[in-house]
Amino acid sequence: MNGLSNHNSDTNMVHIILIPYMAQGHMIPMADMASLLASSGAVVTFITTPVNAARIRPIIDRIENSHLPVRFVQLPFPSAEAGLPAGCENVDLISSPGLHKPFMEALSIFGEQVKLYLTTKNPTTMPVDCIIFDSKNSWVGAVAESLGIPHIIFYGPSCFYILCSHLLKKYQVLKSIEDDYKLFKVPGLPEPVEVMKAHVMRLMDRPGWEKVSEEFYKTEKSACCVVMNTFEELEMSGLDKFRKEIMKEVWPIGPLSLSNKDLDSMAMRGKACSIDTRLLLSWLDSKAPNSVMFVSFGSLSRNPISQLVQIGQALESASSSQLSFIWVVKEAERSEEVENWLAEFEERTKGRGMVIRGWAPQAVILGHLAVGGFMTHCGWNSTLEAIAGGVVMATWPRFGDQFVNERLVVDVLRIGVAVGAKVPTLFVNEMSEKALVKGEEVRKVVEKVMQGGEEGDERRKRVRELAEKARKAMEEGGSSFENLKRIIQFAKGENKHLERGK
Ligand code: UDP
Repeated sequence: MNGLSNHNSDTNMVHIILIPYMAQGHMIPMADMASLLASSGAVVTFITTPVNAARIRPIIDRIENSHLPVRFVQLPFPSAEAGLPAGCENVDLISSPGLHKPFMEALSIFGEQVKLYLTTKNPTTMPVDCIIFDSKNSWVGAVAESLGIPHIIFYGPSCFYILCSHLLKKYQVLKSIEDDYKLFKVPGLPEPVEVMKAHVMRLMDRPGWEKVSEEFYKTEKSACCVVMNTFEELEMSGLDKFRKEIMKEVWPIGPLSLSNKDLDSMAMRGKACSIDTRLLLSWLDSKAPNSVMFVSFGSLSRNPISQLVQIGQALESASSSQLSFIWVVKEAERSEEVENWLAEFEERTKGRGMVIRGWAPQAVILGHLAVGGFMTHCGWNSTLEAIAGGVVMATWPRFGDQFVNERLVVDVLRIGVAVGAKVPTLFVNEMSEKALVKGEEVRKVVEKVMQGGEEGDERRKRVRELAEKARKAMEEGGSSFENLKRIIQFAKGENKHLERGK
């Protein structure tokens, strides 16, 4: 390898830099990746910023206590230089749509700081063998190229979504479609699913984002290979097709959540939990298998009070006498009005319902046998965690990759039922009237997921089979396990032909 990159042959350890995107759903899988790589013979440097480090403090403490060779480096985020409010270092802190662009600008400036760190301030004596970066950090391409460091792109979403976006661009499909809500087939997709323009249009496909798009594709091209949080057995045809399209090695190494073996590491992913995990587990232990519906919409999507009330009514009135639920209401969704309503709701559903205010130990909940359904926004981490836990989904996408993930879950894998959301939320905390789903519709889907007769049994059987395959993929000798080894080999310079990503 060239430039700064020079594998340390004395210790046989490699040094890998991880650069996650600044959003909870992106940092969590990369933190899992850090532990996995460090357990497999790498020294890992995880680059973050002060506000984000504070956010993932439970993960940092846990990994540091494990004595794995992972170092968390905090570099200042140039919020002020880019015209952002102080401390705006994470996507969930962007308070208005107009701040998206300054946030991207801040990322570019941050790139210069990372470059400076890599060239002058890197306190380790170990040279850098490779950088793995989130695809949203397109600025890494130019930095890594200029320093001659081989770099691997990490795609957080499903391969199905990435392939879909790739094909839509390749065949310039969206330009000729005028109706945002007309169904059409994506040309070249192995599965003949139908999507709508409103659901597949990315921010960078919109006018004014050309520079971002250009940098994204340039960086994708320069990357040596691709790593994904999925597994071969889940997305085999999509992965095969994507490999041919992108003409690079694509290594699925997930589900990354399964790298957490003990209760504490499963619970301490992301922010500090708002509930005692052991109390939660004893509550779940008291419930019958598959009797609990878990309701949570990831780290970003927010429901206005009108939607919260409809969800509550659905959970309260679902006709199964057995139905219990755990419902996560985010800090950002809370208000005096919401609290007043929740207090009465909790009284009425006492014993069978639990409301977690804030952050829940999601992977722990989805891994419990009592949990039989998951009402989810179809964020890819949540989707994979449901699959890993063998839990059927009630799908309620909001934006980004989520509508396409819904198609994978409902139409291709057939392990979920769609709530019927059609109108995307354009900004995380802006859910228009048109996007609201009525409680009655939600109730029907809850019942279908939790009971659903023969069809429901088949869904459950299918998701359980996938859970078993997911577990095997991560075990020694499994497909994801072997791909992780390929990353280490790559960092050691054992597969040199991959270094030329162009
Ligand atoms: N998560 C969690 N507790 C919560 C909310 C979210 O542990 O209360 C985790 C969840 O397990 C997943 C991540 O946050 O790993 C959310 O990522 P996802 O891709 O599902 O959605 P996003 O937040 O990016 O929209």
